Amino acid sequence: MIPYIDIHTHHNQSTSDVIAVRNYDFDATPIGLSSVGVHPWQSVTINTDADFINSSMMEVEAKCMMPQVVMIGETGLDALRGADMETQQALFLRHIALSERLGKPLVIHCVKAVEEVVAIHKQQRPIQPWIIHGFRKKAQLAKQFLQQGISLSFGPRYDVEAMQAAYEANALWLETDDTDAAITDLYQEAANVLSVSVEELKLNIYQRAIQLSSLFRSE
Ligand SMILES: [Zn+2]
Repeated sequence: MIPYIDIHTHHNQSTSDVIAVRNYDFDATPIGLSSVGVHPWQSVTINTDADFINSSMMEVEAKCMMPQVVMIGETGLDALRGADMETQQALFLRHIALSERLGKPLVIHCVKAVEEVVAIHKQQRPIQPWIIHGFRKKAQLAKQFLQQGISLSFGPRYDVEAMQAAYEANALWLETDDTDAAITDLYQEAANVLSVSVEELKLNIYQRAIQLSSLFRSE
């Protein structure tokens, strides 16, 4: 049976038919399929700990070596919260380097920084896939990422045309993030929006997931 994939959640969402990637802070112990990184909001710690980038990235690296950690993040840029942009970019670049070195994709938090993230992608030319999580913006901004080969993950709130553009680009993910939404409901709703069956949508996302990591492969 093809599982539902919840590509980014802060809760324990895995069940017999849902494979979820649970996000952990760098100082937590990741259990099961997970992602680990320093959230852009946590970058403010630099104000009280000058060595924060090095010390937190050492923890991220140690945890991302664990096989069950299938993605690195969430990392990224947030123009409305967190430390200054220079610090956030330095931290983001460290995650990108680790992602390339360990061969694990990135899950990205991006708030009011589309141009910056696209520019960094152009400049860094990463091999690893990048996923922008919790994408809520319009199709025009979605296309800036999609044209750069960056995929988009949608939660309970999204723009219909942006979701359609991501699906057409073969770059769509679904996620529950920190909400109490059910991933099965999100699939049902997205299938309606995209005029496909839930089974078709499940297969589409599942095929993308097993390219991301063989650990998504269900028995
Ligand atoms: Zn999140």
